[in-house]
Amino acid sequence: MVSLVNKYYALLSGFTETPLQDARALLSYVLQSDALLVWRDLTHDEEQKMLSLIEKRKTGIPIAYLVGEKEFMSLPFFVNEHTLIPRPDTETLVEELIDLFKDKSPRILDLCCGTGCIGISLAHFIPQSNVTMLDVSPEALEIAEKNILRHHLSNRVRVKLSDVLKDEIEDKYDLIVSNPPYIETETLQTLDVSKHEPILALDGGSDGLNFYRVIIPKAAASLTPCGTLAFEIGYNQGQSVPALLSPYFKDVTLKQDLSGNDRVVIAQNPI
Ligand code: GLN
Repeated sequence: MVSLVNKYYALLSGFTETPLQDARALLSYVLQSDALLVWRDLTHDEEQKMLSLIEKRKTGIPIAYLVGEKEFMSLPFFVNEHTLIPRPDTETLVEELIDLFKDKSPRILDLCCGTGCIGISLAHFIPQSNVTMLDVSPEALEIAEKNILRHHLSNRVRVKLSDVLKDEIEDKYDLIVSNPPYIETETLQTLDVSKHEPILALDGGSDGLNFYRVIIPKAAASLTPCGTLAFEIGYNQGQSVPALLSPYFKDVTLKQDLSGNDRVVIAQNPI
């Protein structure tokens, strides 16, 4: 008997770059268990659902949106079209911060939280931390709330609707972290990512630096003495973002992701 995955793989082949993984992911979603372990035929309803998902996948909709979740730091996160899909690159940022803070009890602020994958992973892996997550999108915050509940972190993680470009940061924090929109507006139009993921979460203005320019002075005023500011940056921002940080921060450190691209900047409050 041919496994079910192979049957649907054939339907996706030539339409996506990863037809086998996609077939397995969609089937596992429809069956609510690992498709490789299922050797029965689909029911009529399951078959209809599967064929409709395959048609959507062929139009380029990411798997994460079709199945409604994505793994990040080995934790599952709800996602939808109002949130960016968590990326492995962002794990570099989170891993660095876990190393720095794991034995401490930091008050953490995650700006532009989207799904909440950064703030929630930090809360999960830093047991004494307390996390506030802000986003400008009410729809994204709904997803972030669901993720907080999913990981049983309501006692230490909260969300707040706020536009970091306009609103002041309230309270003081030991760590401010952000993966803000950082793609140049013109470049964005040429990228596949902009076809399905929210432009609001990606567009960093004409030079991609709008959010860093606003966040840096606000963070400098809202960090505790020796507090830390940490950013994800674009592969081409390894000079521009540290240059924006240096008037306000000391020990500006650049880290690379697993592909060797500049991806993370960490800086210390000199006061
Ligand atoms: N913080 C979220 C993430 O890293 C969303 C980032 C964003 O919307 N720019 O996935």
